[in-house]
Amino acid sequence: ISTWNNVPMAPPDSILGITEAFNKDTDPRKVSLGVGAYRGDDGKPLVLKTVRKAERMLMEKALNHEYAGIVGLPEFTKLSLAFAYGKDSQALKENRIAGIQSLSGTGACRVAGELFARFRGEGSPIYIPTPTWGNHVNVFDKAGLEVRRYRYYDPNTLGLDFEGLMSDVEAADDGSLFLLHACAHNPTGVDPTQEQWAELSMAMKAKRHVAFFDCAYQGFASGDPERDAWAIRRFVADGHCIALAQSFAKNFGLYGERIGALSVVCTDAEEAARVTSQIKRIARPMYSNPPLYGARLVAQILSDDALAQEWALECKAMADRIIAMRSLLKSHLMDLGSGRSWEHITNQIGMFCYTGLTKDEVLEIRREWHIYMTDDGRISMAGITSDNVQYVAESIHSVTG
Ligand code: PLP
Repeated sequence: ISTWNNVPMAPPDSILGITEAFNKDTDPRKVSLGVGAYRGDDGKPLVLKTVRKAERMLMEKALNHEYAGIVGLPEFTKLSLAFAYGKDSQALKENRIAGIQSLSGTGACRVAGELFARFRGEGSPIYIPTPTWGNHVNVFDKAGLEVRRYRYYDPNTLGLDFEGLMSDVEAADDGSLFLLHACAHNPTGVDPTQEQWAELSMAMKAKRHVAFFDCAYQGFASGDPERDAWAIRRFVADGHCIALAQSFAKNFGLYGERIGALSVVCTDAEEAARVTSQIKRIARPMYSNPPLYGARLVAQILSDDALAQEWALECKAMADRIIAMRSLLKSHLMDLGSGRSWEHITNQIGMFCYTGLTKDEVLEIRREWHIYMTDDGRISMAGITSDNVQYVAESIHSVTG
């Protein structure tokens, strides 16, 4: 008898399971709109030219493969924090932001979750939006927090439920922990306006709530990394001691390199040093230390003004292609004579479009058209190309009329 004789089959991951089903489909018309990874207009994964350049520069340096420290590559983390908080950030100048390199955005969320569980109490609550990125629930649950929800998206207006959000912020106990998507909310693509962010910041301040920003799309959302960091910088300027999870998966196209950062704004440098020491204590038994390659690439690009500018153009081109596909998808649906309004397709921002399709409609499209999206009707705009946009519009029209 082996340990594994009676092990049941685990259910497939709700997002990655879609890709598995897509890979098995032999229909030549099949389209993958499940996973959130950028594709060029040729439907293929894209490696940025600036990343290629940085790779060549790294080759030239012939670096060794010694371990990084527990905190990763300090040069990278410094650049990563300046990228998010702004080069002129007062908090950065005051050395009061604790930060370490993380295993991309997911790893930053997981370590932050444990940090909160350790110092706010095992099983203490974290409020996350309804809906949110599917993995958030499991990540924070495994980290030892109790996951609670706040209202965010209104299926009737296909937009932000700002009133619901504000009343849930108001109703939560003083000093509660709230996870916020910094930009390009996943899966809805619906973000607060700057005025709404400012109002939320004030309301959270009055309640002494703790803001934890998950920032997976800086630069990728609007095409401008400064603009996409607006909410983060506003909260810090308003005096919030935020925590921040950063990912360089989408904006640098470094998905598999697992490169990100976790940071915590503190009241002073001494507090930041104590917090860093505790983050290290969590990371060490979890994965010991992070991989170097992605950190070296991002640091190579962000430390070189010319290369950083070139990267910004490439990132903008990715954002622009997605924005263009949103317009095309909407206009094709209108040309087909759809009775529904598809304004939300172009109002939403970032990698995803939350179509408003029901699960039954999603399954019918999968069965009849071999187009794969998640059951909640989320499509990855990155999977749409000039070649398949008409086909995708027809499929959506066929089930919505
Ligand atoms: N957070 C959000 C909101 C996301 O959308 C994603 C990726 O889809 C992540 C975190 C984590 O991505 P990664 O771990 O690849 O950086």
